Amino acid sequence: MAAVEVSRLSFTYAAADAPALKGVDLSIADGEFCSIIGANGAGKTTLCSAIRGFVPQFHKGELTGTVTIGGKDIAQTSIGDLAREIGFVFQNPFTQMSGIARTVFDELAFGLGNLGVPPAEIRERVEEMLETARIAEFRDRDPFALSGGQQQRVALASMLIMGQDTLVIDEPTSQLDPASTDEVFALIGAMKDAGRTIVLVEHKMEHVATYSDTVVLLHEGRVVLTGPPSEVFGDARTTEHGTRLPPAVLLARALRERGVDLPELPLSVAELTRAVRELLGEDASA
Ligand code: ATP
Repeated sequence: MAAVEVSRLSFTYAAADAPALKGVDLSIADGEFCSIIGANGAGKTTLCSAIRGFVPQFHKGELTGTVTIGGKDIAQTSIGDLAREIGFVFQNPFTQMSGIARTVFDELAFGLGNLGVPPAEIRERVEEMLETARIAEFRDRDPFALSGGQQQRVALASMLIMGQDTLVIDEPTSQLDPASTDEVFALIGAMKDAGRTIVLVEHKMEHVATYSDTVVLLHEGRVVLTGPPSEVFGDARTTEHGTRLPPAVLLARALRERGVDLPELPLSVAELTRAVRELLGEDASA
């Protein structure tokens, strides 16, 4: 069964003249890593909000079509019940902290405490998540005293610890430097490896290309392309609709235009380096 099924979804915000989503169809399998890309205003955040039920339960407007999560129609499901099925992380970690916890440890424990999880189990799960998210060294620090990248990992960890099967993550690295971005992606990748379904909005295309099973290109509220990264980043429509390409794809194109015969489209600099070394007859594994 699909983890997330979006069918003929259209939505117009109450204050808007034009729809933000127009007849979106999307099927995300259990355990799939699906990234949504597109220019500013394409409808990516609105689609995430619709999957999480914030549209139209919180952001008002006119909605037609359906969203089902694990087979349940979200229009028939309360926001509270949906929160048990789907975790959601926004762009700004600052707004996601409980504001109550004085330490990172307590921040991670907060949501589980609200669910009535027994204290011994909370301690065990928090210890495990501190290790998984590589934030154990900050366990006694005030979450608000951390750097942006560290805070984002705490925000993600506080969501991941709740154990939902489907995670909707909207631009988690937009305020982060390259090293923190890599850390956040490593953590999201580990969640995929653990079998969770990931719906991600992200502008850093090399990471999208490296981590995603499927990429969905949105343009003016419509799905233009859906497919594996090599297909979507190899399609001219991706740049026509204002999306940047991963640097490796740009370099590969330039090389092909100069007659270099690269067999497959490399999606990361590491893949491109390997391909070029093979062409040069070097041992690519060295
Ligand atoms: P970005 O990359 O800039 O975050 P996006 O692809 O996530 O953009 P959305 O934020 O979903 O796009 O916006 C889609 C359209 O809906 C835009 O035209 C935007 O102006 C409009 N919109 C978004 N939020 C609201 C709102 N609360 N009320 C009215 N219109 C809105």
